[in-house]
Amino acid sequence: MRVGCPKEIKNHEYRVGLTPGAVREYAAHGHQVMVETGAGAGIGAGDDAYRAAGATIAKTPEEVFAKSDMIVKVKEPQPNEWVQLRENQILYTYLHLAPDPDQTKGLLASGVTAVAYETVTDERGGLPLLAPMSEVAGRLAIQAGATSLQKANGGRGVLLGGVPGVLPGKVAVIGGGVVGLHAAKMAVGLGADVTILDRSIPRLRQLDDIFNGRVHTRYSTVEALEEECFSADLVVGAVLIPGAAAPKLVSREMLSGMKKGAVLVDVAIDQGGCFETSHATTHADPTYEVEGVIHYCVANMPGAVPVTSAHALNNATLHYGLALADKGLKALVDEPHLRNGLNAHKGRITNAAVADALGYDL
Ligand code: NAD
Repeated sequence: MRVGCPKEIKNHEYRVGLTPGAVREYAAHGHQVMVETGAGAGIGAGDDAYRAAGATIAKTPEEVFAKSDMIVKVKEPQPNEWVQLRENQILYTYLHLAPDPDQTKGLLASGVTAVAYETVTDERGGLPLLAPMSEVAGRLAIQAGATSLQKANGGRGVLLGGVPGVLPGKVAVIGGGVVGLHAAKMAVGLGADVTILDRSIPRLRQLDDIFNGRVHTRYSTVEALEEECFSADLVVGAVLIPGAAAPKLVSREMLSGMKKGAVLVDVAIDQGGCFETSHATTHADPTYEVEGVIHYCVANMPGAVPVTSAHALNNATLHYGLALADKGLKALVDEPHLRNGLNAHKGRITNAAVADALGYDL
């Protein structure tokens, strides 16, 4: 199959759909890979690295779209990309169609077969192509929180790990899923005093086993949240109720009970945020203060570390990408979890949640 990877054009998107390592795998399966010039610049992979991996380099995105049977990307296609897609072509990328009626119309008009990373499933009910970005965001949440806690950045001036003779900082992680687990790992690694709150008792049991006594776990009630937030130096918001806006678990009123200069990192901001006072920020200006509490609410945290994020994403997308390249549409018949990723085909919506959200018939 002819597989194409254009350069990402969404604002401040530095990741790339195919790393040179992934290109080698497609080439080894006998596929012809075309990569737009400069596509890997954001992760330090030049055209020569792609050539060495077996790709040909296209001078323009138009050439990639026109000459490829499958397009592999990172972010949802932008308006000038929708118009280049066509029937009998596969698009394999993050789409997030439910809140995006314009993109949905664009994809339907093109007739493309669109497979969305975020709705591919696994046998445990997880979302394996979304998980790596949650892992990145969870780990980054502690780095961002630790930096924000420094006095010069508006924080209360606490070193999360403490030093011998001085107690470590206290970290509360609300939501012990993928983001929460990875935030807790980083916080424990720094030597902080960590509590994870969750509504799922089976998940709390699992976390207790994973950390073997190195974190406290707590069932998430209003009382528990208040106690943990009031004593915390850093609170990480990592809850998710699939398909719904994040619940507002920390109210504006609760902020007055928190330590001055404490930090809230709201990773759930992409679902509206789990703190009442959260609003989305950018890497260029990531924090603001409300009631003396520093808020960090960057909606695309993995974008700060595109090298790590692009490789983590490619690790997760490669298996099904190769299946699509090897078998074409038959891969969707053979692999039910990949089929769950199919969002649009020949002008029709094929995903129930997207159809429901946007009022389309299946
Ligand atoms: P997940 O489903 O793995 O985990 C969510 C956890 O929240 C679950 O364990 C669930 O039991 C728990 N939960 C639900 N309601 C709760 C409550 N009231 N109190 C405590 N816990 C509760 O999800 P995830 O992959 O960890 O993602 C978490 C959030 O981070 C999502 O909104 C996701 O979109 C977001 N995210 C943001 C970025 C970013 O750049 N900002 C990047 C990746 C993920």
